[in-house]
Amino acid sequence: MTPCPVCNGLTNLVKDCPACGSPMEDCGRISSFTDPYGPYEETAESESKNAVTGDSHCVHFLHCPNCDENTSYIVNSDEI
Ligand SMILES: [Zn+2]
Ligand SMILES: [Zn+2]
Repeated sequence: MTPCPVCNGLTNLVKDCPACGSPMEDCGRISSFTDPYGPYEETAESESKNAVTGDSHCVHFLHCPNCDENTSYIVNSDEI
């Protein structure tokens, strides 16, 4: 469960590409605080990570369709 307004469809994440200025596409949430290549996920470990990262922000992956720039953006539910 996340309060992220983007994940909840309350708002669209629209950011300009830092490289070319074109609007970037929100490719969804990424788990930047967990190992994306981890072959397994232990329940206790994920619980502790949730406690560390909290529920106040959500990291989204942005892709520029114009120049293929990739970046991430931290959506802070307190800011939107
Ligand atoms: Zn989100
Ligand atoms: Zn771009």
